[in-house]
Amino acid sequence: MFDFTYQTEPQKVVFGQDKRKTIKEEMAEWGAERVLIVSTPGRKKEAEEAARLLGNKCVGIHDKAVQHVPEETIDVLVNEINETRADALAAIGGGSPIGLAKAAVLQVPLPILALPTTYSGSELTTVWGITKNGQKQTGKDPIVKPKTIIYDPELTKSMPASLSLVSGVNAMAHCVEALYAENRNPVTSIMAEEGIRALAASLGEIVKQPDNMEARAEAFYGGWLAGSALSAVGMALHHKLSHVLGGSFQLPHAKTHTVILPHAAAYNASYAPEAMKAVARALGREEHDAAGAIYDFIKANDGPVSLAEIGMKKEDVAKAADQVTKNAYYNPRPISKTAIQELLEKAYNGERPVPEMTKI
Ligand code: NAD
Repeated sequence: MFDFTYQTEPQKVVFGQDKRKTIKEEMAEWGAERVLIVSTPGRKKEAEEAARLLGNKCVGIHDKAVQHVPEETIDVLVNEINETRADALAAIGGGSPIGLAKAAVLQVPLPILALPTTYSGSELTTVWGITKNGQKQTGKDPIVKPKTIIYDPELTKSMPASLSLVSGVNAMAHCVEALYAENRNPVTSIMAEEGIRALAASLGEIVKQPDNMEARAEAFYGGWLAGSALSAVGMALHHKLSHVLGGSFQLPHAKTHTVILPHAAAYNASYAPEAMKAVARALGREEHDAAGAIYDFIKANDGPVSLAEIGMKKEDVAKAADQVTKNAYYNPRPISKTAIQELLEKAYNGERPVPEMTKI
């Protein structure tokens, strides 16, 4: 157990209510004079507030980010960076605008300040993703990792309860897979277990009472821990399944993570018993049925539990199983096409998973 390598790149994290208002000071610390803001059309209001806070240090708002960073959207942003002679980017939103800013700095190396508005965690990683000809390619480069993150719970307040839940379970998935990652270490395991605890404790409260800012702050804290674990270790079957379903079958990112997580946990249960104990503990459950506990948590909070309800076609189940089996990521339990197809069928039907105790 105490035999590991742990590498992180420096990053400043500023956390707290109304901390978004410190954006100008943070940019001043870097000596940035010409900040270009990157957002989606949906986060325009937040982008405009940041522009006001930056005053004459803001050279514009690029509000054209869309999901999965299509290649052509990068060219448009790079042109705007060149035209405005921007010397820093401020990405406001979820993984889509942060992902677009990351892709742009691969071409024009600029520092990024991230103001996340979801729990997906892209702001914490060196991973970039670009969609070319309908295929999402990913890679790692330290240059894309935001230099500073401002986590202001106020920025998550506009997320409706249903989106908060699935975004939070997306973060929980990073924690579950970090607990059985091949290159896990004691620090990432502490972050992952505490991340699940914080997310489980807060998401239910947000669903009941969307204006509960303490719960929103705790969920953001859980999201930060989850993304930190994600950035430090490798992900496994759950992330592979979610990438295939999102990338090739256009299923929505966070909802897909939500439906798949209990099934991926059940698949790996007998090969990762310590991880499953940690997940169950973090969810406040005595027994070690982590998969069932995750499923119950999602269902109790009205989250999606079946691939059919989030738009999957039955005839795509076998195709997806085939793709997941090819170039599979490391996974504690070996991947077999028959077993993956069974997993996807159960997820398609929305069945409560039963941990698989038989080793293949
Ligand atoms: P997103 O940025 O696409 O946002 C999802 C939806 O939520 C959008 O409709 C958006 O408009 C809306 N939204 C965002 N913030 C909101 C708010 N505060 N209030 C109301 N609505 C809000 O999604 P995401 O789930 O954050 O990120 C998913 C993307 O990020 C995927 O493309 C995924 O592959 C990528 N990702 C990358 C990494 C990485 O390390 N590179 C990590 C996680 C996710």
